[in-house]
Amino acid sequence: MSDCLFCKIIAGDIPANIVYQDDKILVFRDINPKADVHLLMVPKKHVESLAKLNESHHDLIAYMMLKLPELAEAQGLSSGFKTIINTGKEGGQEVFHLHIHLLGGKNLPGF
Ligand code: 5GP
Ligand code: ZN
Repeated sequence: MSDCLFCKIIAGDIPANIVYQDDKILVFRDINPKADVHLLMVPKKHVESLAKLNESHHDLIAYMMLKLPELAEAQGLSSGFKTIINTGKEGGQEVFHLHIHLLGGKNLPGF
């Protein structure tokens, strides 16, 4: 997806503050943080949104879910954290590459 912002970040064409990466996922700081800690976790393979997942993504999604508490712990969020997935235009999604927001620390917004 040549016109996808997060694919460009994954490719290294646009800089980002990277917190973690492996062969499956990239985790970087949100450019406009809504809390002291605001990370975005994305799969390295382009998937448009949660609504576009299929059975082939089963293991990837399980992997991402299991990685979130690990990342939260590493960010010092031992008392808790918030995860958000915006899906589709009416779901508030602005970047159409699946991403999980991981928020925590001070200034955590309400729902
Ligand atoms: P969405 O509304 O699609 O769930 O969230 C998109 C998020 O991407 C927003 O929180 C926004 O601040 C973040 N974002 C948009 N452009 C960039 C960028 O170029 N770099 C980074 N690190 N985050 C971005
Ligand atoms: Zn993409």
